Amino acid sequence: MKRNRVNIVTLGCSKNTVDSQKLMRQLQVGGYNVQADSPDPSDIVIINTCGFIHDAKEESIETIIRHAEAIKKQERGHLFVMGCMVERYQKELVEALPEVDAWFGVNKPGEIISRLGLAYHRELSGERVMTGLRHYAYLKISEGCDRTCAFCAIPDIRGRYVSTPIGELVAEAEFLASEGVKELILIAQDLTCYGIDLSGRQMLPLLVRRLTEVKGIEWIRLHYLYPSGFPLELLDMMQSDPKICRYIDLPIQHISDNVLRRMRREHNESDTRALLKEIRRRVPDAAIRTTVIAGHPGETEEDFASLLSFIGEFRFERLGAFRYSHEDETFASLNYSDEIPEKTKEKRVARIMELQQKISGELNESKRGRTVKVIVDRKEGLFHVARSQHDSPEVDQEILITLNGKIEPGTFIDVKITGSTEFDLYAEPA
Ligand code: SF4
Repeated sequence: MKRNRVNIVTLGCSKNTVDSQKLMRQLQVGGYNVQADSPDPSDIVIINTCGFIHDAKEESIETIIRHAEAIKKQERGHLFVMGCMVERYQKELVEALPEVDAWFGVNKPGEIISRLGLAYHRELSGERVMTGLRHYAYLKISEGCDRTCAFCAIPDIRGRYVSTPIGELVAEAEFLASEGVKELILIAQDLTCYGIDLSGRQMLPLLVRRLTEVKGIEWIRLHYLYPSGFPLELLDMMQSDPKICRYIDLPIQHISDNVLRRMRREHNESDTRALLKEIRRRVPDAAIRTTVIAGHPGETEEDFASLLSFIGEFRFERLGAFRYSHEDETFASLNYSDEIPEKTKEKRVARIMELQQKISGELNESKRGRTVKVIVDRKEGLFHVARSQHDSPEVDQEILITLNGKIEPGTFIDVKITGSTEFDLYAEPA
């Protein structure tokens, strides 16, 4: 029997990727032939949208229009749209895009499944269809956020913080390991809060400990640790357990108290400095990644100068700088004016990235001659492309290895660093 084809198109962040892969598993069990981001004609196209910032919304709308036109041309097929942008703008979207057959907000897999006449299998909620590389996977440990950052629309879109119980996450990790996953990347809007809604206390260290016991998982990486309430116990675990990558993703967003206050962050300059110092003291060789926002309402030239000077002084191993974007319904958009010209914001971001490029180049140069363990991601041209425990996929630098023969993706090997640029390293087998 020919099975109906469903194509799931995923936009936005890794949390959306996880949601799409889980939905694909439910559809697969229901008898559909599921594809991810396929260019071929399908009976049903489901677009999982991002509505986080202006550029992401535009990309979502363009993608919807492109698929609607393709469906019209082939004179068959249905178009469903789900995810963050729908959660945020459903009313306006329904009016503007009548060619879409059905709209679903976030966390509505059951509704999509039932719209297709299938039963939702709760017992399969930890299973997914792996798309892309199979040796690493994102593990979403919670949904939503209870913080009140002024610039952020996430709590409005994704709701209050809800942790997934440890037992379910361990079962999901076991499933992923059985599919060949070796590196688990823990994600959430905020990992730091994990477990508080379940038990009244932070449970991230306990969860990480349990995940290190899953057979087949060799690396565990933590993304998005909110600075305030950071569980220091994790640092000792990182130092003693080689399965926990010495990698800390801690978005500080700014360093000036004036801006942090207006951002409604729960940390100030002195807390941030103290925490970063403690991380360096307890895990001296950890790679620290951060993100900062330039041009937030109220950021003066002096505030920006202190941010730039702090970045130069602290020398983060990884850093992303973003232009402030005035988003609907956020505290900032309701209470501040977006007073800093876009050109100034752009210039500030460029100055940060120029400085970071110099820092990154110097840090990379100092690695020459060292031997590091890496995981091979793929073969590309003359190189095998790999990452160390200090590099997260898709966002960080890569290590380009010259070697004869072919090494399978997901293989761990030791390499010696032989050269560097600002954002990549070159190596050969050790
Ligand atoms: S902690 Fe992150 S997701 Fe939560 S409100 Fe702040 S920026 Fe948004």
